[in-house]
Parts: sequence; C-alpha cells; structure tokens
Amino acid sequence: MSSVSRRHFLGTGAAAAAGLSLGSAGRLEASSAAPAWQASRPAVIASANGLRGVARAYEMLTKGADPLDAAIAGVNIQELDPEDQSVGLGGLPNADGVVQLDASCMHGPTRRAGAVASLEGIATPSLVAKAVMDYTDHILLVGPGAKQFALAMGFKEQNLLTEKSRQDWLRWKARISPDDNWLDHDDDVTIKFSTGTINMNAVTSSGDIASVTTTSGLSWKIPGRVGDSPIIGAGQYCDNGVGAAGSTGRGEANIKVCGAFLTVEGMRRGLTPQQACLATLERVVAMTERRLLGDNGRPRFDLNFYAIAKDGSYGGASIYSGGRFAVADAKGARLEDSVFLFKREERPRR
Ligand code: ASP
Repeated sequence: MSSVSRRHFLGTGAAAAAGLSLGSAGRLEASSAAPAWQASRPAVIASANGLRGVARAYEMLTKGADPLDAAIAGVNIQELDPEDQSVGLGGLPNADGVVQLDASCMHGPTRRAGAVASLEGIATPSLVAKAVMDYTDHILLVGPGAKQFALAMGFKEQNLLTEKSRQDWLRWKARISPDDNWLDHDDDVTIKFSTGTINMNAVTSSGDIASVTTTSGLSWKIPGRVGDSPIIGAGQYCDNGVGAAGSTGRGEANIKVCGAFLTVEGMRRGLTPQQACLATLERVVAMTERRLLGDNGRPRFDLNFYAIAKDGSYGGASIYSGGRFAVADAKGARLEDSVFLFKREERPRR
C-alpha cells in the first residue's frame, strides 16, 4: 500500500480488520458500507444510475430469479432508456458518430462468462453477452462478428443514436478545431466529454452470485476503442464462493490492474467489500502514468468500484469524493455514499 494515500481512507478499525498498518493521520473519510453483521440476502449493488435497476433485480430475486437474469433485467432499464447517454440506446457515439457498445457478464453458479465489444445497432449488449455465454464456446465477440451473432440470435437492429446524442456529437465535432471546415456554434452549450456505464452485482437468498457491466464507453472515442466493461476481470468479475465486483469510470486505468478480479481476490483474502474496493483503487493510483497525474501527484480521472460478498455485505469506493452507488436489500432500494481516496475539490481538471 502506498504511503501517499493510505492515510486518506482507512480508519484504525477498518485497517485492523484488514490486517493493514495505518499512519497516525489515518481516518475514514466516509463510511456507508453494510458490515457483515448487518448483511442480508438477497442483495444487489450497482453504480448510482442503477437505482431503478437494483429495485427491479431485488424484486426478481425475492421471487427466486437467477442472479444473472435479475442483474441483467436491472441494467436493461438503463440500456433501453434513451435519456441515459452512457449506455445502450442514446449512448454518446464515437468520433465518427457511431454508437459502439461494450458489455460482459458472469454467472457464479455455473462459472461461466460472456462478453461483446464494439457492438453496433443492438440496444441491449448485456443480453448479447449472456447469449455468447449461453450459446457458444467463446467468451468475447467483437465488432461485426458480435452484431452478426446478435442478429442470428434474434436481436433486433435499431438506430441507437438519438437526436440528443447526435446534436452533442455535432457540437463536439464542430469545436475540435477552429481551422477545420466545420463552423463552430456560438451557443454556450457545454460539450459533454463523458464516461458512464452501469455495473450490477447480485446475490440470491441462497448465496449464488452474478455480475454484469454494460456501457457505450467513452464519448467521442477512437472507433474500435474497447474499454474495461467487456473485459472479464476488469469491468466485472464474479466468484460464487467469494463475491462479485465491477467498475465504472476511466476504463484504461482499470484494465491495467484487472480491477474487478483484484477486488474479488481482496475479499477472498478477508477484506470487506469496501476495503477491497479501496485497496484496488490504491493499486490504480500506483499504476497511473505520470502524464495522468496532477501536480499534487493524484490522478486526473476518476474510477469507481462496487463489490458484494457472498453474505450480502457490500461496499463502493471511488478515487474522488462525491461518488454514490445504488443498493437494494431487506432495507429497500437506495443510494449510498462511496468511500474515497481524495476529496473532490482537490481533483485537478482533466
Ligand atoms: N468504464 C467505461 C469505459 O471506460 C466508461 C465509464 O464507466 O464511464 O468504457
């Protein structure tokens, strides 16, 4: 653990429980995770945009649904919502104005996984990822092959670029350079440069676990860019004996540490879900290349992890403060604050 950030996140109690040493300045910046003694099953955790989704997934789990079916039904809400510009229909497009989607899933009880990347024209890549898992001997299909597979499986092709997202793309394109042939708009609209994704992880009442992550990835990305979401072990990971974890935020930073896998391995070693998320973020910071660090030595991007253990205990953590996550268990569906490494006002502009 690096000395830079350990003082920012672990209180002495948590550190002791995790078997970690802690400097005298150590304190817990925020704490909201359910300790194991409060945990209940079934339970579902997701990124904050999954509030409606965790409610749906939880309800399905109370009726005995499979954990992956429940989690995917949860993320389908965002995938099919044209107002959510980070996922599925309405997602912000790549630099060419084409919406390219990434998704992956894991099913704990059967130890299987499926994924798609750079998928065009299909609004629910999470379901296509599950079809790869269910109907093929492969794990990851990409680009035209993924689309061909989806069409063969009966998925319907549609235009995923909503008028709102097309307008945002046109504004971005016009403003790339004052010297190109596109006239700059003189309106004062902020150009979105966005990340956004939904990750959801579910545990049934009997302790079976599943995870799914789906996204349109970075807005205005280089065509063909694939983020962390469809990478098993980065965007999400699930081990039925331990728990599940997933991520949103800068995918390039997550891929380098295999973040979802690392988080599940942290739980296997005895860390709580919250501690495991923070330990993974520590690794992310340690692995950040210099050009992405501000003058204060901290990353110029954010990354979030969400984790759930087999007993239903859960936690979420971000590099910067202000992050939230959605959770649903016996206490209902709600948003909770993520713990963090650094206060947000300390974050330099990207
Ligand atoms: N992780 C996603 C990606 O890098 C984006 C995000 O979650 O904001 O593609």
